[in-house]
Amino acid sequence: MYNNYQNHLTSQLNEIKEAGLYKNERIIISPQGAEIKLNTGQKVLNFCANNYLGLSNNPELIKAAKKSLDDHGYGMSSVRFICGTTDLHKALEKKIADFFGTEDTILYAACFDANGGVFEPLFSSEDAIISDALNHASIIDGVRLCKAQRFRYENADMRDLEIQLQASQGQRFRLIVTDGVFSMDGNVTPLDKIVSLAEKYNAMIMIDESHSAGVVGKTGRGVTELFNLKGKVEIITGTLGKAFGGAIGGFTTGKIEIIEMLRQRSRPYLFSNSIPPMVAAAGIQVIDMMTETNELQDKLHRNAEYFIEKMTRIGFDIKPTKSAICAVMLYDARLSQEFAAKLLKEGIYVIGFYFPVVPKDQARIRVQLSAAHETEHLDKAIKAFDKVGKELGVIK
Ligand SMILES: *Cc1c(COP(=O)(O)O)cnc(C)c1O
Repeated sequence: MYNNYQNHLTSQLNEIKEAGLYKNERIIISPQGAEIKLNTGQKVLNFCANNYLGLSNNPELIKAAKKSLDDHGYGMSSVRFICGTTDLHKALEKKIADFFGTEDTILYAACFDANGGVFEPLFSSEDAIISDALNHASIIDGVRLCKAQRFRYENADMRDLEIQLQASQGQRFRLIVTDGVFSMDGNVTPLDKIVSLAEKYNAMIMIDESHSAGVVGKTGRGVTELFNLKGKVEIITGTLGKAFGGAIGGFTTGKIEIIEMLRQRSRPYLFSNSIPPMVAAAGIQVIDMMTETNELQDKLHRNAEYFIEKMTRIGFDIKPTKSAICAVMLYDARLSQEFAAKLLKEGIYVIGFYFPVVPKDQARIRVQLSAAHETEHLDKAIKAFDKVGKELGVIK
């Protein structure tokens, strides 16, 4: 039987390759950071990690994780409600709630699970979920698992959101759900306007702060801080896998009854393993560090401003951004691949994105800034962009 199926898969894989959509993985043999070493021996500057605060290889986090290995062991061998909860898990949940100004938090193995497990236990066919068209795949999957009626509005389009709110007025409870920062453009969701519409139409709000927590807002508390709306949304989800150390782990934080219900009914929480104590310990360390000082967020904000200002000045077309994501627009798919390959030769590691990851003829190179970058790193990247941009006729 496998023969036929093997042929089927092989021909599909070949189609992916022929379309130029086959994903190859580069192998890193150093810790994650501003400068990384590949198994080819090449050392490159990394501008494509979600390592926004530069904490992936932070000595304080490593120390906290090592200490917890000694006093809490390696794994939990259990889901949370059987015997997978330690004092570290509870402490991290409280820290995350304090950080966002919410009431309680529930941890997951990943934000993919947090989003996958948030809708189905809370909403049923009488309810409606109104989702931004560019929301993360895990939100889309989570919504699919839920029986609520689905409505979709164009990315950050408040006219369309209002139309969907009107169209869904017959439903019992309604939830508007949006990413905080959209990963391909780096734009921030217009939360102030969403809150006004939610109040007008009596809807609730969920925001996924995966790309915004630690990044956006003066002290890195995310989009609710940027718009001065802390505590105004019912549900926030986020990841420990990006700015917060970059290991693994996700969370849902918000109203106390919502979190309580998720602990009773959310399937990825009930039927999947507890995060290891070392991840919880390092997570606590991250939040403590961010509570003590704004140094890292300030450096990240300075780096992003510096890079975008210089790149704009030398003639690149940069999407308006309020995050640490900078989309350098090239429009042409092939050009984006050629550009990224040439940058790698110059020692700059970035990725070119094109359809279907971004809309047709909207190919770009996504640069992700980090507090790990020093000015010399940024200058080297800008110089490489300048050189390759001129070679390929993108800038004059
Ligand atoms: C990265 C990301 C996720 C997934 O987070 P993991 O913890 O890696 O599963 C979910 N939502 C958004 C918006 C993301 O950017």
